[in-house]
Amino acid sequence: MSPSSSPPRTLPVVSNETTQSLCQSCALCCDGTLFGKVPLELAELPPLRELGFDILEVLEQAYFPQPCAKLVESSCSVYSARPKNCRGYRCKVLRRLEERELDVEQARAIVQKATSLRSTIRELLASAGDCASSVWAQLEVFVKAEKLQLGSPEFSRRHPQLGKDLMMLRRMVDEEFLVKKSEVAAKDSP
Ligand code: SF4
Ligand code: SF4
Repeated sequence: MSPSSSPPRTLPVVSNETTQSLCQSCALCCDGTLFGKVPLELAELPPLRELGFDILEVLEQAYFPQPCAKLVESSCSVYSARPKNCRGYRCKVLRRLEERELDVEQARAIVQKATSLRSTIRELLASAGDCASSVWAQLEVFVKAEKLQLGSPEFSRRHPQLGKDLMMLRRMVDEEFLVKKSEVAAKDSP
């Protein structure tokens, strides 16, 4: 850093209300954009079944599929009783906001960009699948119906905008939202 560089900004501690409002404008971790399923612990199955969760069990691993049926207009309809994994989940944007690497406006801008891409892609895929499925499931139906291979030159030629938007959303999911194991280890270890 040169002597004349300005010192790093000190950002204010972010409130729970702010993070909740950010999540309510996003829901990418509930609608199938980031994940296909949410693993559950066996002890939490009875109360979640009572709440009407569609729980699947494979080889002693329980989970429910996403998009989550409890997501209503970008909000969790069982917020106070949500599963342990939902309660503890913080995407990279949220972590960076809480750790004051991002300010609220920067975090909002990332979420806004990703959610607009998701909406635009959904519109471009409107002929395929219903909106109750995830954007990726919708894409799968679209690709099958069009007899195209995803990422092929033919796909890009016939659907240039869709191809670009998909690439951008995937990049954002990987780079801006999903937390890599190495990042968790580096930041969460004592
Ligand atoms: S992806 Fe991140 S910002 Fe979006 S709802 Fe989930 S935790 Fe909140
Ligand atoms: S239970 Fe709530 S927080 Fe968990 S995936 Fe469903 S909507 Fe999201």
